[in-house]
Amino acid sequence: MSVEVVNLFPTTRLVGKDLLRRRLNLLKKTCVACGNTGNIPHRVNVGGIRLVVCGACLSEASRLLSLSAGDPPVTVVAKLLALRNPRKVALAMKRMQNAGVEVPWQEVLREAEFFRAQVRQRREEIQTEATVKRHAWLDELVKFLEKKVESRGLEWEIHDWIRTGKNTYIVKIGIYPWGTTFLEGTLDEIQECVLDIVGEVESARWRCPFCGVELGWHEVTVQGECMCGARFRQSTCRSVFGSAHENNVWEEIEERILSCLPEKERELYSTLINVGVRVEDLFENVAYLGKVFGWPTYVVQKQMRAKPKEEIFRSPTNALRVVLWEAGFSPCIHKLSRRRIDWWGGEVAGVKLYVCPSHPDYRGVVVRVEIQDVPLRKEWLSLPFKEADELYEAWTEWLIDNGDSGDYTVTDSLRVDDHEWSEGFIWKSQGYHSLSTKELRKVLEDGLEVYKEKVKMFLSVFSGVTYSARS
Ligand SMILES: [Zn+2]
Ligand SMILES: [Zn+2]
Repeated sequence: MSVEVVNLFPTTRLVGKDLLRRRLNLLKKTCVACGNTGNIPHRVNVGGIRLVVCGACLSEASRLLSLSAGDPPVTVVAKLLALRNPRKVALAMKRMQNAGVEVPWQEVLREAEFFRAQVRQRREEIQTEATVKRHAWLDELVKFLEKKVESRGLEWEIHDWIRTGKNTYIVKIGIYPWGTTFLEGTLDEIQECVLDIVGEVESARWRCPFCGVELGWHEVTVQGECMCGARFRQSTCRSVFGSAHENNVWEEIEERILSCLPEKERELYSTLINVGVRVEDLFENVAYLGKVFGWPTYVVQKQMRAKPKEEIFRSPTNALRVVLWEAGFSPCIHKLSRRRIDWWGGEVAGVKLYVCPSHPDYRGVVVRVEIQDVPLRKEWLSLPFKEADELYEAWTEWLIDNGDSGDYTVTDSLRVDDHEWSEGFIWKSQGYHSLSTKELRKVLEDGLEVYKEKVKMFLSVFSGVTYSARS
């Protein structure tokens, strides 16, 4: 028997269609044994006939049945047929007959039956070898985990694994309280990663915000309690898109504290929490410890209660929120540059205003004006497109040089959120944490007056220009 590999890509230079046709013809060669095409055809001599056999069939016949050049034609044919599923033998025979093979078929079939038993046995052996090898790997990993992870008080779990190469694997493994991960590599490499994780867990340190003592993973995640009596609460689910504080523990703390408050205060505190004020800024005996292996964790003492207002007022942003709430404004959350900002809507002198205490673009209080409610400004909305366009452009330009007035800046480009801009003003005073509701109203009224004044001034200048240009 002689075997030759057909070269699919001859070095002879052929051009265009010829080359393509020749390659396609070669690829179209059908394997007499399995009937598939395109899997690197080889040629096998049977008597004087050259049969095309695909690479897969040839290597299987050699591996499982030691097909060799010394085999008589009947044996070669029988070995090739023995690889086939019995239902497909007739088809394989037909392909061989078409190729011109003439052998005593009865004898071939008997011999094929004998070889088929060998194939089955060999396949089973190979399977077992692979399984044994796979499980040997797993046993070794388990032994390692017991010795290096379990013995140190940590827990482990193998969720799933697959073999990806001769000696490489991917394993989905949990090491608790650290978490779950996928590790890929040889057994040695995977073990090294596990040791890294164990090292990370053992060297992690936090500090109790109440008594200042240093804490390791065992106190925080297993014991769950500090020497001073404070308890650790690690979150177990959190919002992917919100801040780190949108998690189940935060909610529990909120619920627990709010239920102890009188109704009026409960409304204020829950509004503040909803706009993103942290629980630890609103309540006593609650502190944020930080992330513990990725999960936001809080420290709480037995007696949690609301902080007095003076304390909350230390943050100017929170102070302004409280005053806005007391003045009857209500908040609405928008998303700007991947963070949440709160706009508080209310009415001042018949005009709807939205106040943002936490705007990232400006220092100070940012106020959007509903232009529909400002008569002089509203008129522009009904102008024909071209005229309105001209007017807007001039207004924008004019505001750049003329927008400032005392503590206020009027602008047409306040970012409301990621998709919207608005007109309004900024109050730049730093003293807004000590405002009363009455003072807040005055600040907003004055700002609104400044805004209206700017509109008036601009219109007188702009119409002056256009009139002079027209005349
Ligand atoms: Zn084949
Ligand atoms: Zn403590």
